[in-house]
Amino acid sequence: HAKHSGNDRYLTFSSDMAQRSVELMNLETDLRHAVNREELELHYQPKVGGDGRTVVGCEALIRWRHPRLGLVSPGDFIPLAEESGLIIPIGRWTLAEACRQFMEWRRHGISPPSISVNVSVRQFNDSQFLDNVRDVLDGTGMPAGCLDLEITESVMMGDVERAVSALNTLKAMGVTLSIDDFGTGYSSLNYLKTFPIDTLKIDQTFVRDVEHDTKDAAIIATIVSLAKNLGFQVVAEGVESREQMDFLRSNDCSLFQGFWVSRPLPATDFSIFLKNSAAPAPKS
Ligand code: C2E
Ligand code: MG
Ligand code: MG
Ligand code: MG
Repeated sequence: HAKHSGNDRYLTFSSDMAQRSVELMNLETDLRHAVNREELELHYQPKVGGDGRTVVGCEALIRWRHPRLGLVSPGDFIPLAEESGLIIPIGRWTLAEACRQFMEWRRHGISPPSISVNVSVRQFNDSQFLDNVRDVLDGTGMPAGCLDLEITESVMMGDVERAVSALNTLKAMGVTLSIDDFGTGYSSLNYLKTFPIDTLKIDQTFVRDVEHDTKDAAIIATIVSLAKNLGFQVVAEGVESREQMDFLRSNDCSLFQGFWVSRPLPATDFSIFLKNSAAPAPKS
């Protein structure tokens, strides 16, 4: 492309953009059929303990295998799914598939101790959500204690009382609850008193430059001690290097997720990863 004039490049760029916006318009139509056409799949990323090897859980992360566009990441279709309401059937599928897969691993004696599933705000606020969780647990035989639901601070931006009551209902079912992307939302610390949560997941933006940025380091140290003092577990997301892991460990954070350990893997690859790693006895 070095030979092209700036003008040529602009034309190419703008026709790509036109192409791209057509693709985006088609995307919603395509997404409507994605569940039925079985184009969605879950990849799994291990959550490990302080030794960097012991798998204490995993997170299910959705991908869309689009017939023309290839593998589409959630950042490119979850917002669209939220806006259009398609997150409801997609979220239902995700929860069922994660539990089905977990039970399959379990039958083979290789399941991680727990599986975390992301729940978006619209899904959480849907009147069917609690029934859906109950139905999936019953339908798959999944032990509730092995299911962890990741919500974000944004669930607090709506009806707080309703949110707390829904979370209490989930806790009563036996599932565990994590706050995802902790530290990036708008809510006050006050909810940490009222939310029946188990785990804070430190957002990866704080982890990224932690060895060089003293403010990030201070924020992480503070989140860890906040979590410990309140009796929550704390997990660091987006750990990409040995140095980041060492920093976290020396700051009392001993649960990690990130490319340093493993990228999210398709189910088959994840089961190979599990076989090759130390695993604590499964919870029952
Ligand atoms: P999240 O729940 O905070 O998930 C962590 C994201 O960070 C994942 O991106 C994961 O692949 C990525 N990640 C993990 N380790 C590293 C690392 O070391 N470095 C970097 N740079 N990134 C890392 P992914 O899979 O693209 O998902 C993005 C977001 O999409 C998720 O953020 C979550 O908010 C949403 N999402 C994913 N799956 C689902 C789902 O099934 N339902 C809903 N509602 N949202 C989902
Ligand atoms: Mg998550
Ligand atoms: Mg996160
Ligand atoms: Mg996120």
